[in-house]
Amino acid sequence: SRHPWDNGAAFKVGLHESLASLDKGLREFGSRLLLIKGDTPQSLLELVKSLGVGGVYWNRRYTAEAIAADRQLKVALEEQGIPVHTFNGSLLVEPWEIKNKAGKPFRVFTPFWKNCQSSAKITAPLPMPDSIPSVKKRPSSCALGELALTPQRSWVKEINSHWQFNEQQGMALLEAFRDELVSTYSAARDVLSKRGTSTLSPYLALGILSPRQIWHAIQGAVAEHTGLNGEAEAYIRQLFWREFAYHLLYHFPETTTQPLQEKFTRFPWRDDQAALELWQQGKTGYPVVDAGMRELWATGYMHNRARMITASFLVKDLLIPWQRGAEWFWDTLIDADLANNTLGWQWVAGCGADAAPYFRIFNPVRQGERFDPQGAYVRRWVPELSQLPDKYLHQPWAAPTDVLEGAGITLGKEYPHPMVDHAVARDDAMIAYNLMRQQVAMKAL
Ligand code: FAD
Repeated sequence: SRHPWDNGAAFKVGLHESLASLDKGLREFGSRLLLIKGDTPQSLLELVKSLGVGGVYWNRRYTAEAIAADRQLKVALEEQGIPVHTFNGSLLVEPWEIKNKAGKPFRVFTPFWKNCQSSAKITAPLPMPDSIPSVKKRPSSCALGELALTPQRSWVKEINSHWQFNEQQGMALLEAFRDELVSTYSAARDVLSKRGTSTLSPYLALGILSPRQIWHAIQGAVAEHTGLNGEAEAYIRQLFWREFAYHLLYHFPETTTQPLQEKFTRFPWRDDQAALELWQQGKTGYPVVDAGMRELWATGYMHNRARMITASFLVKDLLIPWQRGAEWFWDTLIDADLANNTLGWQWVAGCGADAAPYFRIFNPVRQGERFDPQGAYVRRWVPELSQLPDKYLHQPWAAPTDVLEGAGITLGKEYPHPMVDHAVARDDAMIAYNLMRQQVAMKAL
């Protein structure tokens, strides 16, 4: 495994595109983006000196590594007499702004959310400036390509074909959501085959849009149509899950690799590289799991419901540590976000804050039937199953041979046999969970 969490491959594809569009945007205002390769404090100090800079401004970050690096940079600049000004550019509520009744960080979402609703002061975003003053003496910049963010692979082309990482597109998606999709959000968000959500997560992760812009756009829609209130609240609530994730990341920084609930350090996980790879490649033999994993590989995104189903399959049906899944998501998600990814994985694994209880184990067949009843999602991402009737689409092994033949499938050839029997896997997961509980109880004796 690779820590501390350098940017993942898919995220870097988005970063390359968004930096290119930021540069283009700045040039329209007579400025431009300056890229420098090298040690950050040293390069910045040299630049500041050569330009006679009067102050350095940046937005605050919240991972332990970033906080340490930024603090060091601030000290280095201030030692040279250069003032530093930092801002909140990516959250609605910074992690230290609110505390629970006992004066401690929140570990449960609902009270966190209630507290935010009553106390958070979310100011309106500032308008775009008319111009951006630029320095006369132009320091030399390295070309974006020199940062080597994107590997030369067909995978990059495929990812890019699904997205446009610029502010205009971010705003267009936000407006489309505000004007239309928000009105059906609470029901549509769980339909696997639909784009019922805002798909703004990559824009948030890359810093193209801020949650304040989103929050204000949605409040504006509610002000115009009070009938939207309930749906808008359901959406804003999800936006606050992201805030909660940052709250936890800041207060419990070790949770990116360690379970928040300590007892889970005793969980008898399995080390099974071959099984991990079948999951990564979308070859588990469970259609809805495979569809999710293949959507992720092809687009750098996965529907939230599919994230829960695929993650549950890895940690509960395969008993592979959630950290291995989090690492794979980190490398392949275009919206890779250390706070949200950590929260999501610990939630599914049952070891995090306000997590799903471990013993609630998703049945991948039932989940498929419930959230992809006509099978459009599975047919799109697992096309070899597309001829199978709805009745068997989520469990091809249950189909009579002639039905399989009619659909052009031989299990084990065009599509794999299920890699585990869910009923057996479920029992094994409960045995593992109870073993952990016994160990914890014995330790307490
Ligand atoms: P919408 O439904 O339109 O929600 C709007 C915004 O609210 C999202 O963009 C996101 O910022 C926030 N949000 C929504 N749901 C959640 C949630 N469950 N937790 C935290 N914030 C949420 N999200 C990431 O941004 N990056 C990740 O790396 C990430 N990893 C995840 C891993 C697992 C195992 C799970 C179960 C979830 C993960 N999520 C992650 C959360 C969620 O799946 C995505 O934020 C969501 O699917 C993004 O799509 P959207 O923008 O259309 O969401």
